[in-house]
Amino acid sequence: MSRLSIKARVTLWITLLMTVLAMIVLLLLLTTGERMVQSTSQGRLIQAVDESSDEIGRDDDWPAGEDVDFFKDGVYISVYDKDSTLLYGSLPAGFDATIEFMPETIQTIKDNGATWHVRDISVELPHYGEVKVRGVVSDAGVDSVFRTLYALALGAVPLLVLLSALGGYLITRRAFRPVRQISQTAEHISAGQDLSQRIRLGAGKDEIYALADTFDRMFDRLQAAFENEQRFTADASHELRTPTTVIIAQCEYALENAQTLEEAKGALDTVLQQAQKMSGLISQLLTLARADQGQQPLEPELVDMSQLAEMVADEQREKAGERNITLTAQIEPGLRLYGDETMLMMLVMNLLANGIAYGHPGGTVKLELYRAEGNITGRVTDDGIGIAPEDLDRIWERFYQVDPSRSHRAGSAGLGLAIVKWIVKAHNGHIQVQSAPGRGSVFTFTLPASE
Ligand code: ADP
Repeated sequence: MSRLSIKARVTLWITLLMTVLAMIVLLLLLTTGERMVQSTSQGRLIQAVDESSDEIGRDDDWPAGEDVDFFKDGVYISVYDKDSTLLYGSLPAGFDATIEFMPETIQTIKDNGATWHVRDISVELPHYGEVKVRGVVSDAGVDSVFRTLYALALGAVPLLVLLSALGGYLITRRAFRPVRQISQTAEHISAGQDLSQRIRLGAGKDEIYALADTFDRMFDRLQAAFENEQRFTADASHELRTPTTVIIAQCEYALENAQTLEEAKGALDTVLQQAQKMSGLISQLLTLARADQGQQPLEPELVDMSQLAEMVADEQREKAGERNITLTAQIEPGLRLYGDETMLMMLVMNLLANGIAYGHPGGTVKLELYRAEGNITGRVTDDGIGIAPEDLDRIWERFYQVDPSRSHRAGSAGLGLAIVKWIVKAHNGHIQVQSAPGRGSVFTFTLPASE
């Protein structure tokens, strides 16, 4: 059975069920019908025999008997003396006249395919003595009708099986059509790798429509994830190729042309810068890749966020100075939270480095850290080039750079804010940005504080 398709199995079950049900209903109808007919002919028999006995009993002239009706309502009435000699009345043709008298019961006699109901009554007449009244009624007509009906019912069974099978097949085929569509689409996608295909069953309320909708949404997510992955790989390769090309070119140049140690050192210097850029990029890529797989281990500990921010600000102040930017810090002391120290440093550092990289020479970058409503809020404000409204949502994307040539930071590849966003999320916080082109930007993050 399990080797059959679901469609075939359902059809088979429907056929079986319908056939059994129809047979049960037919049998019930026929047997109760037959019984009802029998009981009504027995009822007629009882009534006719009772009435005839009453009439005979009332008749003072008996056995004159003219008043007795010998064929009442289909019942044959016959009257016998105590030696069972027929006095009056008649018996139906084909009825065996030798059947013994059994007063006060109804005998049902089957003879030659005919059914007879017989009722006998003994009546004591004052002037005559005992007489026996017999009533006989036949089921002959009814019998043949029911025989025909049984034969018809039996003949209808194959037709019923056929109709149930056909109906069952049509119903299941219709019900399973969406399932076929789902499996065909899935097969199409897996065979042709065309992730843009969808089932699109349209609007419907049943479980299969819900399943198709779930599949479509899953395909949407798969396609998005797949495209992201492709874009990520392409962007990463592109970003890594540039420094690699520079390193190779510098090495070739130095090997062929460098005459002095100074010249060789100059080339080495460039190689070192590019290698550092690559190393930074690779560690950023690794962080994001691990974060994606949920494998970037957070090492939570009680971190003094105030101290940490102060330290990062001191470290970045030198870089700010190189661009003639003033870095100020307003940090509320003693702000502590439970988190990963390295990641939190990276968060503050990336925001400050961006403020410096996209700030105007002579301008300022301000770092604030304070407690607000049980959380720690950090804010990095710069008065630099700002971000256009249409780019505001996209700056969090990986490798997204509004204009790579605007950055004054070596090795920037558009991964910094993607990492910032992940760090904040991993610490159950949130981050937002407000910015106006030409006026500067404000990045505000909030993290849950620890008492
Ligand atoms: P990048 O390595 O390019 O700095 P980020 O992910 O840190 O990458 O930032 C993405 C983009 O967002 C940057 O290329 C820049 O255009 C924009 N951006 C980020 N911070 C600032 C800021 N403080 N001012 C102006 N633009 C910014």
